[in-house]
Amino acid sequence: MISSPIESQLEFFNVMSNKIFVKRRATLLAFATVAFVLLTIPVSPRAQNHLSLKINYRLAMSQPSSHLFEVAIEVEVDPQSTEIAESLDFQMPKWSPGRYAVFDFAKNVQEFRAFGGICPRVNIPCNLPDFPVTRVDDQTWRVSMGRTHSTTITYKVFGNDLSGTFSQLDSRHANFNGGNLFMYVVNHKPDPVNLSIDPPKGWRIVNGRMEKRDQREWRFPNWDIMIDTPTEIAPDWTEDNFTVDGKQYHVMVHSLGKEGGKRGQLVSGIEKIVRAETAMWGPPEFDSYTFLIHFANDGHSGDGMEHLTSTQIIMPGALGDPGQLEEALATAAHEFFHVWNVKRLRPIELGPWDFTRPANTRGLWIAEGITNYYGHLMQRRAGLSTDTQFFKTLTDQIGEVDNSPGSKLMSAEDSSLSAPFIDDAPHAQQTNLPNTSISYYPKGEIVGVVLDLLIRGKTKGKGSLDEVMRRMYQEFYLNGPDATYYLRGRGYRNEDFFRVVSEVAGEDMSDFFKRYVRSVETPPYEEAFAQAGLRFVREPRGPVTVGITADEDEKTNFRIAEVRPNSPAAAAGLEDGDVITSFGGTKLTPANLLRTVSRYKPGDRVPLVVQRDGKTLRPTLTMGPPQLFNFKIEEDPGASAEAKALRAAWLNGK
Ligand SMILES: [Zn+2]
Ligand SMILES: [Zn+2]
Repeated sequence: MISSPIESQLEFFNVMSNKIFVKRRATLLAFATVAFVLLTIPVSPRAQNHLSLKINYRLAMSQPSSHLFEVAIEVEVDPQSTEIAESLDFQMPKWSPGRYAVFDFAKNVQEFRAFGGICPRVNIPCNLPDFPVTRVDDQTWRVSMGRTHSTTITYKVFGNDLSGTFSQLDSRHANFNGGNLFMYVVNHKPDPVNLSIDPPKGWRIVNGRMEKRDQREWRFPNWDIMIDTPTEIAPDWTEDNFTVDGKQYHVMVHSLGKEGGKRGQLVSGIEKIVRAETAMWGPPEFDSYTFLIHFANDGHSGDGMEHLTSTQIIMPGALGDPGQLEEALATAAHEFFHVWNVKRLRPIELGPWDFTRPANTRGLWIAEGITNYYGHLMQRRAGLSTDTQFFKTLTDQIGEVDNSPGSKLMSAEDSSLSAPFIDDAPHAQQTNLPNTSISYYPKGEIVGVVLDLLIRGKTKGKGSLDEVMRRMYQEFYLNGPDATYYLRGRGYRNEDFFRVVSEVAGEDMSDFFKRYVRSVETPPYEEAFAQAGLRFVREPRGPVTVGITADEDEKTNFRIAEVRPNSPAAAAGLEDGDVITSFGGTKLTPANLLRTVSRYKPGDRVPLVVQRDGKTLRPTLTMGPPQLFNFKIEEDPGASAEAKALRAAWLNGK
């Protein structure tokens, strides 16, 4: 049922051992007496997966200011079943889809209890006897069921982060992402589940699966879909609606600051994005989709997270603040593209998931990087950005990759596999990741734009990356046989993507992927932009390279924050924490660094005076050639009519 090899083996083992176990018991019983045919057969915890269970989740929040969500899970074994569970395992995921760092949600679980039977709804914890609970490991609680058919487990989860991954409950609202609230019953993620929510008085519920106003109960085909449904509960959110291609779109805004009269612009901007993206893909599969948007106004909460029928967007400022409207629209353009790319058309490893260990996928440069590219392109197609702004965004992304030492060491595929370390992962231990890694967002984006323009050039505008994405969606989502319980279709491997690109380009593109996706070569920017009558210009940021950055906390002294690997500073033996008191006779400060080093040319030898651990050192630094560049995309005045037409088709999506 689950695509990762280890999990598949485990599932297979469970099914097999369970069958053998039950069969052996049955044989023994038959020998004992025929009168025992109705006897229930205890099933070992490792073999619970075929038991038929009824699973109800209930969520309450009776004390918002405590930040404690109250969860109850009622589990009933089918009373007709001839088997019962000796015990049931309840497990908190270690991470949740869309963000690939391991957060160990179990760390915020408290007061786990289990009761013998179904507790009356109004009375939690209830008067039923407690069932014994064993903590099996860091994420698993085992409930001994005795010989009964049902249990209610209850626990609380502390949540005070407004984000696309965590949850927040306070006196203003409850905003939750189910992955950090709801334990699954081990081996029963595929089972249908019910959810009922008991909100504080006067608070209204909204999520991407509302069938009616003030709905409080839902039925989900499985646990994975339940946790794909982030939910907002508050007394004062607003809703605006529009329709595109017969589909309903809802824009929920919870403003925790002043809106400055900009909500209308936000909603009309989102509608333009929806029109631009559905123009490329065709109408989406859902009937209704909800943008859940927060303007947190706390200066730090910011996020965007994709779901099947909704997205959570969190901006750190107020809607009325400069730039927040534009940032929210940029995030919406990215997240809405995920409706197709990653939520439905998905790498094979991304759904269903094994939440006992991090996700390992080679495809995030497609799932996130290419989405990043289209998020930017779609703002241009929607008329929300100009050609100049779009080109500037592209060169910023190119600069981020090309100027990063990590991009010379880490390929797009390696970056995808490193997601658990680089996707917002907290690090107590110091790492060298800033110098050794590159994010799959810009790395995938630049592969995407180069690929798009090369395909358009090779096919004289008949093919494009748009066409690749549509064919992938058709083949793997719409028309692929269902591979698992989780969702329609099946996941793809990178090789599938390479094949479809070659089909659309009309030639074998495997060399491209070998060099720019599986290796760390610099993509052919000049050649790609030339297809659209554009010149790609690379300019050194300065005449020379030293390879140091200043500690910004110090104003009068130049204390080194970082030494760039393979730079003149590294060759001279400089170290982070060193204070440079003299640079060729000049007292160095963070403010005069550029002015001071610009006096030199590559190859010049500069005597330094450096303070380290109370000692004075006098190394000599040899100035190096430029290592950092600025990039520009300019119109080529001599561009052919053909190239200009290709550019227009690319920018306008026609
Ligand atoms: Zn809210
Ligand atoms: Zn994304």
